[in-house]
Amino acid sequence: MMQGVGLMVIDPRMNAGIDVRHARGLQIPEAGIWLDPPRPKPWALVSHAHSDHFARHDYTICSSPTMALIHARYGEPKNGELQPVEFGQSVKKDNFSIRLHPAGHILGSAMIHLTRHADGATLLYTGDFKLRDSLTCERAEPVRADTLVMETTFGLPRFRFPPRDEVIADVHRFIFETLNAGKVPVLLGYSLGKAQEILAMLDGIGVPIMAHESIVKMSAVFRQFGRVLPMHDLLDPERAAGHVVVAPPQTAKALCAKMPCRTALLSGWALEKSAKYRYGVDEAFPLSDHADHDELLQLIEQVRPRVVYTVHGYTTEFAADLRRRVIEAWSLVDNDQLELQLERA
Ligand SMILES: [Zn+2]
Repeated sequence: MMQGVGLMVIDPRMNAGIDVRHARGLQIPEAGIWLDPPRPKPWALVSHAHSDHFARHDYTICSSPTMALIHARYGEPKNGELQPVEFGQSVKKDNFSIRLHPAGHILGSAMIHLTRHADGATLLYTGDFKLRDSLTCERAEPVRADTLVMETTFGLPRFRFPPRDEVIADVHRFIFETLNAGKVPVLLGYSLGKAQEILAMLDGIGVPIMAHESIVKMSAVFRQFGRVLPMHDLLDPERAAGHVVVAPPQTAKALCAKMPCRTALLSGWALEKSAKYRYGVDEAFPLSDHADHDELLQLIEQVRPRVVYTVHGYTTEFAADLRRRVIEAWSLVDNDQLELQLERA
């Protein structure tokens, strides 16, 4: 009879690699580092400037564009320290080296790579990311790591985005049909990232553009970092006839009370058949700044991790999918439910 084989609980999250925990935010305990914590912490790495990834910490490292976007959106810090680093630049923290690599999600968005000096163990945290080309942000540059912590917003096989050119053609058609019907086409996307991608899609179509003030404010930072956006005026519903309007989703109702318009949501959730009704819009087009299911798998091929932890969206489903492919994978946020947050920024 075998001796000593009793009840032994093995925590799959403990491994020879860098230990990562999720307790109201991602934490690397041995490094004293938090990754995108939603509450203030002493020492944080912030992947990008969307509000669900940012809080006022004592000390924050982020990319230069992220710092500029944070300042433009949330104001200058009172006493918080934001330390910008360039992509690829190495920063030391205790026994770790930290590097940021472009994540392809919005301007300045970064994947965060950690290397433990003692044994060379590595970890990559993707933050929000996509691998497809963008009109307004850096192309993603995933790097190899032993441990991969990844977002899985669209972590089901049914989420597969069509080529961008097809989406752009559909959006242009919507604009001209709406103008021909004597109404104002209103394109809805959150004001940081998606709205600038929409603006870039409108370059050269020959229709004057108006944008909500929150978008105009963010666009100025994009231009500061060399992104080319077509001219757009501050939105004035009184003068909007003959224009195409770009606005955040939560402003649609008030806008349409002031002018005859047709609304179109630009979001990855447009792949869901119910999207138009769920969001109360006339049209919905699948333009996302997140990875689709194929890109999630593609990322894993590029990073070649020993273990994968999932943190947003369909975490349990995608992790189970990976285990069927004989890749060790676990959700760090069990019971994490699909969040249909249109306005994160
Ligand atoms: Zn984001």
